[in-house]
Amino acid sequence: MYFYYNSFPQNAGAWREALHALIPELHFIDSFERVAPSQVSYMLTWEPVKNIERFSGLRIVFSAGAGVDQFELAEWPSAVSLVRMVEPSIAQSMAEYVVFAVLALHRNMLAYRAAQANEQWAPAKILPAASRRVGIMGVGHLGRAALEKLKPFGYPLHGWNRSARTLEGVEMHTGEEALDGFLAQCDILVNLLPLTGQTRGIIDRALLAKLPAGAALVNVGRGAHVNEADLLAALDSGHLAAAVLDVFQQEPLPAGHPLWHHPRVWVTPHIASAMQVSGGASVIAQSIRRDRAGEPLLHAVDRSRGY
Ligand code: NDP
Repeated sequence: MYFYYNSFPQNAGAWREALHALIPELHFIDSFERVAPSQVSYMLTWEPVKNIERFSGLRIVFSAGAGVDQFELAEWPSAVSLVRMVEPSIAQSMAEYVVFAVLALHRNMLAYRAAQANEQWAPAKILPAASRRVGIMGVGHLGRAALEKLKPFGYPLHGWNRSARTLEGVEMHTGEEALDGFLAQCDILVNLLPLTGQTRGIIDRALLAKLPAGAALVNVGRGAHVNEADLLAALDSGHLAAAVLDVFQQEPLPAGHPLWHHPRVWVTPHIASAMQVSGGASVIAQSIRRDRAGEPLLHAVDRSRGY
């Protein structure tokens, strides 16, 4: 039973050790020097799988991240499952990032960064948290974790989701027809949707126009959720006050891109969250055990929904 590791080479040793401790009979490989692709049963990868038909014995591909939009599922044999990474430290670090971004926007930290660069002492009025409504698009594993961490600050919280959910202390809005009403109540909008055919380009001119004047955006979903030209236009018109962006249409963000130098944009290099080896190995081992016992897999991607 071979497990092919196709992720950061510097972490291969730690993964080998962690998986061996959990499933000693699993053979860990990170190259095809001695083993043919057809012998591989399980694979961990962030990159799309090229020529997947070479892996004729493949049962599960584990995505190294929570997102799975990089995989061309339509080309995959039906026997191969895709399992996305749902691991506690991904949710913990994402929630930390969202709290950082919301606090930075609420407390005008982008303006203070710009003021410091110009040696300006420019205090602004502090608005109470109760007057800043925060809304999260995509109330899944990560959206829920972020909302939980935001609760103690006292922001009025909103969530928008495809299917109905109940979350104590959060006003929920469900489905397309509830989107406009949700947007009208987001002084700070956080995007945590998966990238699918339905959500690609969702944050465009029309959507941004439905936010209250002076609203701010946090994008931690995917760059392709956002029409960047529309975002820049909304910032330049003043309708959008500021943005904290972790993901971009092109990554790394190209040199000279206007978002790099926009005074009201805080850019981070797709670091909002990442899995830890110990947690990742433990959920992969659990999935492999379930697969071998013929039990349904947890967090398997639904091909019809694309996430
Ligand atoms: P989940 O699948 O747990 O949650 C996604 C949520 O979005 C679900 O609640 C789902 O609704 C909702 N949703 C999906 N499509 C729509 C739609 N068309 N309209 C409204 N709601 C919709 O994913 P995670 O929370 O684990 O991850 C979310 C995304 O975060 C990932 O796909 C990835 O792109 C991004 N991410 C970014 C990282 C970074 O470092 N910047 C790191 C990790 C993830 P339903 O309840 O009906 O299924």
